[in-house]
Amino acid sequence: MKVRWEDIPPEGRAISLDQLSPLSLATPDGEMVEGPRSASAIEGTLLLQRTRKGIEVKGTIRTAVVLPCARCLKEFTLPIASECEESFLLPKYAPAEEDTELANDDMDVSFLSEEGIDLEDIVAEQIWLSIPIKPLCDEQCKGLCSVCGGELNRGECGCDRQYTDHRFAALKTLRLNVP
Ligand SMILES: [Zn+2]
Ligand SMILES: [Zn+2]
Repeated sequence: MKVRWEDIPPEGRAISLDQLSPLSLATPDGEMVEGPRSASAIEGTLLLQRTRKGIEVKGTIRTAVVLPCARCLKEFTLPIASECEESFLLPKYAPAEEDTELANDDMDVSFLSEEGIDLEDIVAEQIWLSIPIKPLCDEQCKGLCSVCGGELNRGECGCDRQYTDHRFAALKTLRLNVP
């Protein structure tokens, strides 16, 4: 859903997130093919406020995504609750070309395009920001055995991981010593 500055009444406009089109959580460059996907509807409301210089977006986003655990690779559901607070400036307040570098440093604002702000984009970005770099199904997740690949959460497989670790270390030194 695109909203332009002119579409917002002076008293503001509340948009319930169930009105949005389904989000695509895949990155635009096709990265993260095994990436997160939505596990439940997106709930919450965004309040759009017109300011003298642009649009302010505030609200809470609640949903859940399914994604693989960084340790055991098993898919799990991660609940998301994100507080959104973003400002968009009208294009006429965009810094002149020569100031861009300077402005980029201390500014955490985006600029409005002709078509207005894209609410799906804003929500998808907020969800991305809420996903940890190394998502874990559980803080205590034991991951996979480095020898047999067994799932250690299900129980100890009996492999001597200490031993192989040493051997790998030895291999590494050997390789380094090759002239
Ligand atoms: Zn795990
Ligand atoms: Zn094992």
